Amino acid sequence: MNAIRLSKTVQNLKYSVIREMGQLAQGMPDVINLSIGEPDFPTPPQITTRAFDDAQNGCTHYTPSQGDPELVKKLADILSSKTGLSVTPPMILITHGAMGALTAAFRTLLEPGDEVLLMEPHFPDYLAHIAFARGCAVPVETRFDQGFIPDPNAIEVAVTPRTRIILLNSPNNPTGSIMPADLLDKIADIARRHNLVVISDEVYDRITFTGSPESIYTRPGMDRQTLVVKSFSKTFAMTGWRVGFCYGPEALISQMLKVVNYSTACASSVGQRAAIAALDLDSRIIEQMTTTFEQRVNLVCDRLTAMPGIRLVRPSGSFYVFADIDCIHPDSRKFAISLLNSEQVVVVPGYAFGNSCEGCIRIACTLPRGRLNQAMDRLQRYLMNHGGK
Ligand code: PMP
Repeated sequence: MNAIRLSKTVQNLKYSVIREMGQLAQGMPDVINLSIGEPDFPTPPQITTRAFDDAQNGCTHYTPSQGDPELVKKLADILSSKTGLSVTPPMILITHGAMGALTAAFRTLLEPGDEVLLMEPHFPDYLAHIAFARGCAVPVETRFDQGFIPDPNAIEVAVTPRTRIILLNSPNNPTGSIMPADLLDKIADIARRHNLVVISDEVYDRITFTGSPESIYTRPGMDRQTLVVKSFSKTFAMTGWRVGFCYGPEALISQMLKVVNYSTACASSVGQRAAIAALDLDSRIIEQMTTTFEQRVNLVCDRLTAMPGIRLVRPSGSFYVFADIDCIHPDSRKFAISLLNSEQVVVVPGYAFGNSCEGCIRIACTLPRGRLNQAMDRLQRYLMNHGGK
């Protein structure tokens, strides 16, 4: 047989830098892996026990593509009371993680060549989701000295006749920045004037250190042109259960339903039973996890700030710290690999989050404090041995 002909879209995708770093570390003794974007806590047993009971009682079959009706109803009640708007079941779609919602949204909203404005630094996977839908990602850079908060003028300038979507992620992966309320007002204004859909990825909205972040969904009229993407993965330490969801205008959700139907049939039935149990979880358990993340993030920020040549913006949420190491090494990939080989510490090189993020690294505070302290000791030693450009 001749060489297999492959899709250019897929061939042109880069392998995930985050996974690649993990692979490079495989087999190394005593590695401290700070690349993993998932809580290290076990899923709370109250969730696991109830999901297993439900599985034993037969919840192991397809659910409707829209999702387990009990989960959809529960979310409709919670979201309506949280937003103060009427979020009815037909406005909600349960998906295979937030990833399932993102991929269904882009496939439903984009024609080939349509543009998506995304704020950089950004979650690397967005590029693949947009590429699968034959869309065109247009990065809008945010700046270190502005705390990685987007500039609305830069967003406005990037709008073209092909722009269809503004993609927001607050709290942000990798910077942990949260968009302030007045910025959301301004972005809503841009979206309304240019008739753009906003996809608001809010998967870290419960892991915040400065109170509850606001959502663009609640800005006047924005419920008619915003899709909010959420997940059980981070909030409830449930990454492996693969349950996320989105809500937005019924006309959009009803079309996205076809994508979910034909791509995954439905999210995992047992995962959805776990999600129902998660919604009943005592909120103090989530607050405890958030406090733990905050303490870890503070520890890492304090340690990094004391190291010469490292600059950072303290995150307001998430469990990531995004640090500028440009003074030490302008090539983030070489820096990350050299740090791994010398000190067995895994971090994610900044270029994974966009071209403007070269010279930075992402540290995930998803290990206990003792281990994070050890990692910081090793980094400090590395800088002493390799400091300077
Ligand atoms: N959005 C962002 C910003 C993320 O960081 C992630 C996971 N790293 C996701 C979406 C996907 O999450 P899920 O596990 O729910 O698919």
